Parts: sequence; C-alpha cells; structure tokens
Amino acid sequence: MLTAHKSAVEATQIHDHYLKGTIHCGQCGSRLIVSNAKNRHGNVYCYFVCSGRHSQRTTCDRSAILIADIEKLIEDYYQRIQITPAQHEGLAGMLHHEFDQLMSAEVEELAQLTANRDRLQHEQERLLQAHYADAIPLALLKREQDRILGELDQVNRRIDAHHGEYADARAHLDDALNLLANCADIYSRCDDANRRLCNQAFFTKVYIDEDDELRVENNRPFEMLLDPEINANALTWAENEDKARTTANDSVGKGSSLVRGVDLRREFENPSSALVTVASRRSRSVYKADRRPLEPTVVDSRGRMVRAVGMTQTFLIPAQVDELVARYQAGATLVELGERFSVHRRTVAAHLVRRSVPIRGRGLDESHLAKAVELYADGLTLMEVGSRFGVSQQTVRRALAAEGVVIRPGGRRARVSA
Ligand SMILES: [Zn+2]
Repeated sequence: MLTAHKSAVEATQIHDHYLKGTIHCGQCGSRLIVSNAKNRHGNVYCYFVCSGRHSQRTTCDRSAILIADIEKLIEDYYQRIQITPAQHEGLAGMLHHEFDQLMSAEVEELAQLTANRDRLQHEQERLLQAHYADAIPLALLKREQDRILGELDQVNRRIDAHHGEYADARAHLDDALNLLANCADIYSRCDDANRRLCNQAFFTKVYIDEDDELRVENNRPFEMLLDPEINANALTWAENEDKARTTANDSVGKGSSLVRGVDLRREFENPSSALVTVASRRSRSVYKADRRPLEPTVVDSRGRMVRAVGMTQTFLIPAQVDELVARYQAGATLVELGERFSVHRRTVAAHLVRRSVPIRGRGLDESHLAKAVELYADGLTLMEVGSRFGVSQQTVRRALAAEGVVIRPGGRRARVSA
C-alpha cells in the first residue's frame, strides 16, 4: 500500500468525496477526510487521511490510504453481502410468514377494538332515540355525543394503524430485500451521488482498520437481514416450505425462534430516507444503465474536478501504453497493471479498448486454482483470495465450488454489531 509522506506533500486541500462521512479511522474512530497530495514530480494523488491525525486532535498515527483502495474495499463489501435468489426467497418467505403470525396474534386485540366501536355506535343510537322520546335534554345529548365521537375516533385510528403499519412495513421489507439482492450490481453501476445514498442506506459507520479490513456498522434493517443466524434460518425455512407446518415450527414475532429478539415492525416501519430513495429509484430502473465515469473523480469545495488517482491516462506516454498492452497480452490482470502503472483499472481497460485489445473475462486463471483452494482452506475469505489474484469474490466462489470446495457460510468476519 502507498503511503503519503509528509515531505512529499506540497499542498493539501479538503475535498469532497462520496465516501466522506461514511468512512472512519479504524484506529481512533475519527472521520476520514480527503487529502490531495502532489509529489515532487507534480503528480496529484488523492488519499483519505484520518481527520484526528490531520488536525492533531488525537495521537492517531494512521497512515494515508489511496482513495481508489478504499473505493475498492467498499465495492468488494457489496459483492460480499449481495444475497442470492435462494436467500432472497428464503428471507422473504420467512419474514412475511412472521408478519402473518404477528397479525394473527393481534387479531384478538383487533376484535376487541371492533367490538368497542360497535358498542359506541350502538350507544350513539340509543342516545338519539332517548332524545327523540324527550327523555334527555339537548345539552346532555350534545355532551354525550361529543364524548362518543371522540372515543370512536380513537378506536378507528387504532384499527387503521393495525392495518396500515403492517402494509407499510411489509412493503419496506420487500424494498430492502430487493435492494440487498441487487446491491453489488447497483453500486458498481451508479454514479457518486447514488453511491453516497447506498452507503447511507446500508451503513451507520464504516471503519477502515490498519490492515485495510472493513468493520461495518449496518443500518436498520440490514443489520438484521445480514445476520448469519437469520439467514441460516431462512434457508432452512425455505427448504421446509412445502412440508406440512406444525405449530412447533411456527412462531410469533418478537422472541420467535426464527427471528430471535427482533421487533419486525420496528425494523421496517420507518426506513431511512436514503433507503426509500434508493429503493424507489431501483424500482424505476434508474440503475439499469452504467453511470460510472471512466475515471473516478473528486470535486473540491469550489466544484473543480481533480483526478482521484495519481497519474491519469494523460501521464502515460505512448511507450508506456505499448508496455501496458504487451503485459496485458502476456497475461497480466487489469488490477496488476493498474498497480504497476499507478492508474485505475478502468483506465487500464480504457487504454486497451483504445488499442482495440479485447478485454478478457475476469475468471480465475487455471494456474492459480490450486493455490486459491489452499488459501481458502487456510482460512482466508473469498474476498481475500480474490484480491490475491485480481478477481472478484464471486469469481473465486464459482471457481472453488466447481472444484468441489465447500463454501463456508457468511465469511463476514469483519462485521461488528452496532
Ligand atoms: Zn485516526
């Protein structure tokens, strides 16, 4: 990993970036801020630096991290958490079933409310009849009617709430699951502003630890939806779906065996505005098209665009592009070339496209397979194995599964609870 040396920093400015506000220093907890450092060759590098260290507010000595590296960590995180169609189906089935159970548990309360409403309406009628028979004076009639109307209003509102809250909560459950089933695809395609929204929807905070591991605090309801135990229950639940259900494997809401300790209504009744926005844009197919710029960019406080990664394509002289093409054709990956030439892998791809060099699919090379199996068996995560060979976690999963390797559940050992 590259490190910003103080001596090489000629000018630092505070810039905006879509990850700002989300990512924090794993060492001291301060926010990470963008620092734009120019080295003695005049190349601009953009880093995230610890604001605690930067302002000397803390004694933190966290070194600077290249922005592109952190962007990649978050992209990989979404790859890791995106649920499969089977998980999606299992979670939706199990949680909607839980909602059904919750609602039937409240049937009794609803029945009581409805009985109350009928009693009040009956009282109203009797009162009117008594008035017509001159049994009660007008003033008393009015007073009694006001009381009954007030009570009726309250009862009706509680009955509506019973129906409305569940309908909303269940719609939000569907939204959240649809998002989770597509989050890696959405995140890889959407522009910076929408990436910020995604991150706000998914995270309260993301800590970047010294070893460049992520520690993630998930937002509601994703903390629950990503819980390994709940996911395991959902898959089991889906497997048993066709079998006859007994009261033994049914459960009710809070404290249920399927979603222990989770208040389902609370989880889903008030989603964050970021989640609502992203879900609505997804349903309107806003994320169908790829809107990532070829070069990641950073906007500073005055709106000027600066390069996010040092040495952009314009810094590569034709001889370097020749070398890049030759190395790619000799088998180097986009990631390796990006590191070698200090450009983003998308820039590498852009150079290749310009030279009409076909881009290879990002499969795991045959020659790396044995080593990948070994590393995974040694306890590395799919993401860690993938980053060794410059391929995605999904690619590793496919390659290992094809080799008959049993994929461990979860693998989200970098996660902590809020
Ligand atoms: Zn720090």
